[in-house]
Amino acid sequence: AEIANPNALPEDDVTYVDQLVETNICQAGPVFFQPLNDFPRLLKNCLDAGPDAVIGEIASASLRGHGGAGFSTGLKWRLCREAAGAAKYVICNADEGEPGTFKDRALLIRSPQAVLMGMILAASVIGAREGIIYLRQEYIYLKAYLEKQLQLFREQGLLGDNILGHVDFSFDIRIQMGAGAYICGDESALIESCEGKRGTPRVKPPYPVEQGYLGMPTCVNNVETLAAVTRVMQQGADWYQKLGTEDSRGSRLMSVSGDCVRPGIYEIEWGTTLNQVLTRVGAVDPWAVQVSGPSGECVAVEKSGERRFGYGDLSCNGSLMIFDRSRDLLEIVQHFMQFFVDESCGICTPCRAGNIDLRNKVERIIAGRACQQDLDEVVSWGNLVRSTSRCGLGATSPNPILSTLQQFPEIYQAKLTRQQGVLLPSFDLGAA
Ligand code: NAD
Ligand code: SF4
Repeated sequence: AEIANPNALPEDDVTYVDQLVETNICQAGPVFFQPLNDFPRLLKNCLDAGPDAVIGEIASASLRGHGGAGFSTGLKWRLCREAAGAAKYVICNADEGEPGTFKDRALLIRSPQAVLMGMILAASVIGAREGIIYLRQEYIYLKAYLEKQLQLFREQGLLGDNILGHVDFSFDIRIQMGAGAYICGDESALIESCEGKRGTPRVKPPYPVEQGYLGMPTCVNNVETLAAVTRVMQQGADWYQKLGTEDSRGSRLMSVSGDCVRPGIYEIEWGTTLNQVLTRVGAVDPWAVQVSGPSGECVAVEKSGERRFGYGDLSCNGSLMIFDRSRDLLEIVQHFMQFFVDESCGICTPCRAGNIDLRNKVERIIAGRACQQDLDEVVSWGNLVRSTSRCGLGATSPNPILSTLQQFPEIYQAKLTRQQGVLLPSFDLGAA
């Protein structure tokens, strides 16, 4: 598929996304891109039912955060509701920066009402008066489009003072632009950025539900999670529970790119196997799949094709990059490590220095100058960076190397044996 022009007008992007979505959808439903009508009635029903009923419905649906970590959405909302604070806030994390991930963009264009309604429901539950959409800087061309959606909601009485006549519920949303930093996808760095500071992750706990924006209880949810909340409240927990598997209910969106005939945005039911998705997207000779972008894992299709998407197995934050045998995986690993070197905020040493060392090691391997000790150090340094870094970036940045070492030892072995006459060492890689 053609690459979307980042400078395109929103109208062009709507058409582009329509094409991507329409041609590719979907085994599950679809859940996310169905037209939604009658928002006032949905909101009125939820407000009449009260916060506990809304939390109960979301918890009964077993809805988990779609940002990647899979934390229970009902529990997050309950904790935020119960937290003490003079003010509370709802933040929609629309800082979709993981390379290869573009499904939140499609949701914002195609179903913005579902996302906004999810924010309003969160506000009604936790008692927030102010919400923020933190929009990825590269999506600035969507700002005017989203402002228009917000205005339409205000005109319908769904945002503003005394929403739908409820004297105790006033809430509005503003859009805050990111500034192009990947690290601001981390919720605590995002909050720092919203406060006008440098986007540096905070030490957790305390979690944002206790001390978030301006030190107040804050509910931060991903775009897709908020849209899913609206679906659950519209169609009921029982309906959502029927989709997916025991530990992963519902469906999820996936941005599919790389070596396949039909790249695009797919909605899959949790429990679908990797091979089923690859067939669906027309991957002719898939060799490796990068699941969840550079911060995820690189899996060998031969070994992992029957693995199932779900929090208990192939957990996926919404991105699949497919590589066929014409690709040089070591070169891809090198690019991913350079990405993490560039995007590390630098506040903690293991991530700031360790990613540079790991990147250098990959370059050494590619150049054919690596020996067994280099590979031993890659593993021990990678595990050190993973376990001692402050935030998710450092906790996942060694994954491109460690997962390819585990799944494709032969590409490393070929470099060592050909260049050095040294065989690949056997060591415990841990969970990549
Ligand atoms: P996390 O597990 O620390 O937290 C997940 C969510 O649950 C957060 O909102 C956090 O505040 C909340 N939470 C966790 N424990 C809590 C508790 N005890 N009390 C209250 N709230 C609690 O994960 P994280 O560091 O926020 O995110 C890491 C994840 O992000 C990774 O799993 C990765 O898959 C994902 N990720 C996503 C993208 C993307 O583009 N969507 C990019 C990189 C990484
Ligand atoms: Fe910053 Fe990396 Fe530390 Fe995260 S792990 S806080 S990105 S230096």
